[in-house]
Amino acid sequence: MTDTFTGTFTQQEPIPDDAIERAVEIMRSGRLHRYNTGPGETSETALLEQEYAAYMGVDYCLAVTSGGYALTTALRAFGLQPGEAVLTNGFTLAPVPGSIAGAGGHPVLVEVTEDLVIDLDDLRKKIKTSKARVLMLSHMRGHIADMDALMATCNEAGVAVIEDCAHTMGAEWAGVKSGLHGIAACYSTQTYKHMNSGEGGFLVSEDAELMARATILSGSYMLYGRHLASPPEEVFLKIRLETPNCSGRLDNLRAAILRPQLKLLDENCRRWNEQYDAMASELSYVPYVRLPHRPDKEQFVASSFQFNVPTFTPDQIDKLLKTTLARGVELKWFGADEPVAFTSRHDSWTYAGNQSLPKTDEVLSTLIDMRLPLTFSLDDCHLIGRIIRECVLAARN
Ligand SMILES: *Cc1c(COP(=O)(O)O)cnc(C)c1O
Repeated sequence: MTDTFTGTFTQQEPIPDDAIERAVEIMRSGRLHRYNTGPGETSETALLEQEYAAYMGVDYCLAVTSGGYALTTALRAFGLQPGEAVLTNGFTLAPVPGSIAGAGGHPVLVEVTEDLVIDLDDLRKKIKTSKARVLMLSHMRGHIADMDALMATCNEAGVAVIEDCAHTMGAEWAGVKSGLHGIAACYSTQTYKHMNSGEGGFLVSEDAELMARATILSGSYMLYGRHLASPPEEVFLKIRLETPNCSGRLDNLRAAILRPQLKLLDENCRRWNEQYDAMASELSYVPYVRLPHRPDKEQFVASSFQFNVPTFTPDQIDKLLKTTLARGVELKWFGADEPVAFTSRHDSWTYAGNQSLPKTDEVLSTLIDMRLPLTFSLDDCHLIGRIIRECVLAARN
């Protein structure tokens, strides 16, 4: 009845052995820089870009130092002007509004629905009032909005969409990979995402000029010809001298760590969803617990788990967090007054100005968040689900 969980919520799986072996070879060679190649040689980073482009089914891919860097670079390559408005989700992680500020823009925050996706009614309103040319769409925690309706809205209004796919690498909307709806998409390979190189990221797009600018921005000097998934030379000739170098290249060591992981990605996505189903089976029928509704078209990857306790008071939530933690289950709450660890709310991004988001505040005030690392077994997930269930019922009484 009072069993506890003893696993660690931040423990990822080890890097695969073949990746470690290749990483050691690269270190022995001393040639870690992506442009440190001999005649006719291709670098590990260029191969990784080629393989990720093939995985996504796109022509162009650029590997960079982080997901946040990919976001900033996408906005710069799009041609964002200083002080320009950029629409984005009010519910997202701090690097998303941070990337907008980093590119010189001004974040305009859009409300979230109770299913944790961007609110399309509020988006339509704010497209009109902000006159923004671009939406930085964050698929926060892997929740994918109705992309058919969203793209229809943005296309009609002439708003470009850049996708933050930090939590949707490997996911799809109606059979189309997440990241292929907008003009560009950004991925993270930071430790807590779907592939792990410590830090790292990708930018993918079918827009040749945007990708040529992004490549020069990333610090390719005049060595862009050594890429395997970049636009043709003539596109670079147009923009290479007017585009600044803002170094953020990926290195061969991280690329070596990532290449074998890409082969495991689809299988790992399936494993995450098995874990999610195990958790959901323990919680979906529990009174006071609301799981976000996920339409059939949303082929999500559940590397984390969210639920609301819509009728709970802050004291009851506090009790829930304390009693679950005492039994080894580490939950995060988006309603806390102070930002804690990775979890922050829009009102702590004060550089964006005070923006009123009553609906988002209401949803976040009872939103609970949990990591699902692949080191958990399905039995672990059932146990965690049961512990949460018992603590929810107890916190209510
Ligand atoms: C992690 C994350 C990012 C940024 O990734 P980094 O590689 O850490 O810069 C962007 N958006 C969301 C939603 C994230 O969770």
